[in-house]
Amino acid sequence: MGLLNIPDELVELRSSLRQFIDREVRPIEDAHRQEIQETGTFETIKDENLKLRKRSAEVGFYGIHMPEEVGGGGLSLLGQVLLHEEAAATGLVLAQIESIFPVISGPTPIYMDCTEPQREKYLYPLMSADKTTCFALTEPGAGSDATRIQTKAEPRGDGRWVVNGRKHFITAGDYADFALVFAVTDGEKRAQGGITAFFVDADAPGYSVTRIQRTMSPYQNPVELSFENVEVSAEQVLGKEGFGFYSAVRGINGARLQIAARALGVAKHLLHKSMEYANSRVAFGQPIGKNQFVQGMLVDSHAELEQARLLVYKLAADIDDGADGRQQAALAKLVATEMVGRVADRAIQVHGGNGFMTELGLEAWYRDVRAMRLYEGTTEILKTNIAKTLGL
Ligand SMILES: Cc1cc2nc3c(=O)[nH]c(=O)nc-3n(C[C@H](O)[C@H](O)[C@H](O)COP(=O)(O)OP(=O)(O)OC[C@H]3O[C@@H](n4cnc5c(N)ncnc54)[C@H](O)[C@@H]3O)c2cc1C
Repeated sequence: MGLLNIPDELVELRSSLRQFIDREVRPIEDAHRQEIQETGTFETIKDENLKLRKRSAEVGFYGIHMPEEVGGGGLSLLGQVLLHEEAAATGLVLAQIESIFPVISGPTPIYMDCTEPQREKYLYPLMSADKTTCFALTEPGAGSDATRIQTKAEPRGDGRWVVNGRKHFITAGDYADFALVFAVTDGEKRAQGGITAFFVDADAPGYSVTRIQRTMSPYQNPVELSFENVEVSAEQVLGKEGFGFYSAVRGINGARLQIAARALGVAKHLLHKSMEYANSRVAFGQPIGKNQFVQGMLVDSHAELEQARLLVYKLAADIDDGADGRQQAALAKLVATEMVGRVADRAIQVHGGNGFMTELGLEAWYRDVRAMRLYEGTTEILKTNIAKTLGL
């Protein structure tokens, strides 16, 4: 594929996503517009999200990133990037994460390690958006260095396991039907064959959501989960015992590219808003966009967005063409998420005091995009990963 030639079928797919959003998502969000403007989000967002997710599954977008053998669309990474960017660029809260597209609350490639009975019980209900999951790895004492997790699963002797421990920062943990929980099963081996991934049902005795963790972002409130003598069966082990990390990394490139794509989309939305404002807001007898200082902010944002977009598209296409992906996905996420932070900051500045007020909805994005540099690999961890691939 030539670098700048996006295949026609992907362009068409992107416009059908746009139509779906305009037809089914936008009217719902518009109905809540007043409330969003006053509060930054709206009370019934979770219910509306769940309904739209279901619609997205029905029309084929929700599981489009999953392989065809499990009912997905088998979409390339470049295709996924185009769709995630398009959704985020609408600036609609309901077109963002864990809504019409799942990032970690729905089906991800990790689930390709499921056995057939596990597919029936866990994966297919995720594909149809009838169920929600969460990915429970991080703990208070182990974030970037996930090999230090303390949650333990001990064999009971009859093939069953007993899980004890505490996880935090778990997205969608408050409404997940089951969690994918990473626990130490061999304290000596740890990351080398001693950490296992278990499906744990939310209604299992001893499973509890101990608190909701409020964040800078109005759209993200992960939770703390605790497991007190939670029993799980051998059928609830995902993949090979002791090799949970191997399943976890299956989805990481896709997730990093999706986040990079969202960063492109949000930046596009914020730049568009900033351009409109620069052309319409008058100060000193002319639109503020006639001032070179304001132009400089807009041109910098435009230039950085264009650079990041080209890079992210190229890196996604490189992985589709067979590149190993470790460097590509890390680089895409690093560049795009750092870029959107700068674009969001300038968007507030261009809008002056109005940018700081909740009414315009800009400051909510400013706060929301901050998290992109933390999850799925912090900026520093991405740099460390890239350095390794460079032979450092
Ligand atoms: C909104 C949000 C949602 C999340 N959702 C989930 C979820 O659903 N499931 C889940 O399991 N986790 C989730 N996380 C956790 C996320 O993956 C961790 O926050 C992330 O891995 C970083 O870990 P930490 O916060 O413990 O920071 P730490 O690892 O303690 O890092 C602190 C600082 O030290 C730096 N640092 C650490 N090690 C190195 C190093 N070797 N070299 C250079 N710098 C280093 C980091 O970059 C960072 O700046 C979420 C986090 C957030 C913010």
